[in-house]
Amino acid sequence: MSDENKYNGYDTSIVYNYTDYPDKQAGRCDNCGHSNFKSTAKDYKFIRECRNCGMKKSI
Ligand SMILES: [Zn+2]
Repeated sequence: MSDENKYNGYDTSIVYNYTDYPDKQAGRCDNCGHSNFKSTAKDYKFIRECRNCGMKKSI
C-alpha cells in the first residue's frame, strides 16, 4: 500500500479555491492532514502549497 492511499483524493495538479474548499481543519491540508505549507504569490493571489502532498489552495 503506498502513501497515496492515505490521501483524500484531491488533485494536486490543480489549485483549489479557498472559497469553494474551506479548510476542514483550520491550518491543515485537506488532502493529507499535514500542517506544513509554503506560500507563493501568483497573479495577485496567494497560493498555499502543502509541503507533504503538494495540494495547492488559493487563499
Ligand atoms: Zn497535504
